[in-house]
Amino acid sequence: MLDEVWELYQQVILDHNQHPHNFGELLEANHIAHGNNPLCGDEIAVFLHVEDGMIKKAHFSGNGCAIAKASASIMTDEVTGKSIEEAKHLFEQFHMMLTSEHPNEELGKLEVFSGVRQFPIRVKCATLAWHTLNAALKDSKDVVTTE
Ligand code: ZN
Repeated sequence: MLDEVWELYQQVILDHNQHPHNFGELLEANHIAHGNNPLCGDEIAVFLHVEDGMIKKAHFSGNGCAIAKASASIMTDEVTGKSIEEAKHLFEQFHMMLTSEHPNEELGKLEVFSGVRQFPIRVKCATLAWHTLNAALKDSKDVVTTE
C-alpha cells in the first residue's frame, strides 16, 4: 500500500477514535454482547435493536485503542439498516481483507483498516467489534474474547 494512502486511512481512524459514531448504550437494544481483547486491553459492548431480521440501530460503548474504537464506530455505521445476513457477510469480507493478500470485494469505508493487515496483532483490535456483533446476534451470554 502507498504510504500516502495509509496516512490518509490512519487519519480517518484517528478521527473516529476521537469522535466515535453511535457511542453509548442504546436503551431500546434487544441484543447485547460484551467483548474483550486481552492482548491489547480493548473492552467493548455492542448494543443492537433488531426488528424483523433487520438491524435498525447499532451502538457501542467501552474503551480500547484507536483501531478498536474506530472499527466499532465505523461498524455501527455500516451495519445500521442491514439485515442480519448482510451484516454477517460484511464481517466475512472484512475478515478476509484483514487476513488475505487479495481481498476480492470493495469494502467502502471499511477499507481504511486494510493497512492493519501488516500488523497481525492489530487484526484482533480491528475485528473485536465484529466478533462482539456476531455474539450479540446470536444472543450469546458469554463474554467474547479474541483469545
Ligand atoms: Zn487494540
